[in-house]
Amino acid sequence: MLRRRYIIWIGLSAIVALLLFNLWSQYRSLTELQTTSPLARQASWRNRLSDVAADLQDFYRERAMKTLDVSPSTIVPEKMDDAVEVAFHDAPADGVKRYFLSSPLSTRPGVVKVTLYDPATRTKVDKRTPDHWAAFSASSAFFSLILRDASVDPQQLVFGEDDPDNRVIAMPIVDSSSRAVGVAGMIVDTNHFRKTVLPDALPVALRQHFTEDELDEMTFAVFNERNEVVASTCKDADGSTDVWVPMHLAFSKWRLGARSLGLPQDQLAAQNFALNFSLTILNTLALALGIGFALRAASKEMKISQMKSDFVSNVSHELRTPLSSIRVLGEFLRSGREIEPEKLRKYGEFIETESARLAKLISNILDFAKIESGQRSYDFREGQIEDVVHEALRVYEVRLQQRGFAVDVDLPAATLPPISLDPDAVTQALSNLIDNAIKYSGNSRQIRIRVWREATAVLVSVTDFGVGIPGDELRKIFERFHRVSTGLVHDVKGSGLGLSLVKHIVEAHGGTITVTSDVGRGSTFTLQFPATPDVDEAGAAESGAIEGLPA
Ligand code: ADP
Repeated sequence: MLRRRYIIWIGLSAIVALLLFNLWSQYRSLTELQTTSPLARQASWRNRLSDVAADLQDFYRERAMKTLDVSPSTIVPEKMDDAVEVAFHDAPADGVKRYFLSSPLSTRPGVVKVTLYDPATRTKVDKRTPDHWAAFSASSAFFSLILRDASVDPQQLVFGEDDPDNRVIAMPIVDSSSRAVGVAGMIVDTNHFRKTVLPDALPVALRQHFTEDELDEMTFAVFNERNEVVASTCKDADGSTDVWVPMHLAFSKWRLGARSLGLPQDQLAAQNFALNFSLTILNTLALALGIGFALRAASKEMKISQMKSDFVSNVSHELRTPLSSIRVLGEFLRSGREIEPEKLRKYGEFIETESARLAKLISNILDFAKIESGQRSYDFREGQIEDVVHEALRVYEVRLQQRGFAVDVDLPAATLPPISLDPDAVTQALSNLIDNAIKYSGNSRQIRIRVWREATAVLVSVTDFGVGIPGDELRKIFERFHRVSTGLVHDVKGSGLGLSLVKHIVEAHGGTITVTSDVGRGSTFTLQFPATPDVDEAGAAESGAIEGLPA
């Protein structure tokens, strides 16, 4: 038993240690998640915003690839005015303020000529305007390459965005030997990009890279270099963003930003942490509770199994002692020896009381088995409690006399109202109480039985002045197999079933059993039965007087 307990404690400590470790590691990983999850989410947003920004420039990228892919044969340095008209005569006008060509003049080394073309009027532009300088400065990225006949990537785009009103996209014009001979370019119509291209392209691009839920929970906006909102998915977008990326091509000083509409990321992460950690604690508690219950059940089971084996040994002893005495007496009587009548009477009495005890023990065991299997039934009828008290006393008369007990029976003067009871069962309950009073009286030889009535109940108490019961045992003694194992009671044999049966019987009658006890001074067990509904008031008044009797 001790070893089993020891093993249980070791197991329990191991489980608790495991649970604590689990809690600790969950805490650690959740804390880490709390710090990394906003970063990870932001990184993911940033990547996807970059893709969106690239998509937003598809319009100009495609336009540039198509219209700026000018044949090198168009570049005839002395005839650049005609060349722009040839190169861009059918180039689309929407979104582009100017197209242009630039090329070094072969007649005047070191001089570069830039010729602009207005796609709206389909004519070349002669005036020197700011767009002219913007075109010149963007093309200049290629001039040194052109002048030294270096080979260049024909698809390489360069951008000029120093003048926000004249953003340039330019591409080299490359001959068959990969040498740049000139530059073709366009000046972007920023207003068109802002008012037409962006509002159309932004929702489409966002839908491609973000989920519907994300789009519901976030706002997206494009900001210009002065941090003004140029386009957005929400009317009242302000300049704030959780993450942003630069736009592409000739708009690299513009930003595409996203902001969560809900809680800020760190608060969201803290909320997630709190939720997950509380769930972990809850799980751990549930697990601990489950383990606690399982252990409790196991230890109760161990206790019961211990009680059962005690019960078997107690009952065997209880059976063996009277049986062997009866056998000895039987053999003696069979021998035919002369016996004095007085002795004969005593032997008869002894056999009678011992067999009554055996019968009581066996009926207790049988009843217990019936109660355990739910088969114990009661035969209720109207009856007087006084009759039951007399019957129980009659059963114990001889034994009480033999042991020299004086029984003080205190019955009310007037007849009590009948109550609904199973007389045999209640007799058995009272017999058990009287039997205990005899067994646990120690040196005292006095028992008191009292019957009285209260407003809605009839009560019977059995008082002894014996060993008493310690306070912490008072509730346990009604449990099956439980026996107080300390003090004087130690030596008295019993099955541990009596009081559990008494409790079952009284409760089956809708009543209760209570006990008061003082160690070394005795105990009082009181059975309380509900009085039948037709109790008359006169009776109640009468019993009220009896209730006032000193205990
Ligand atoms: P048992 O057969 O052991 O008497 P019970 O169920 O009748 O079984 O009683 C349970 C335990 O309660 C007893 O073992 C005893 O320790 C204690 N007990 C019962 N009645 C008394 C009493 N009148 N005085 C002292 N102890 C009692």
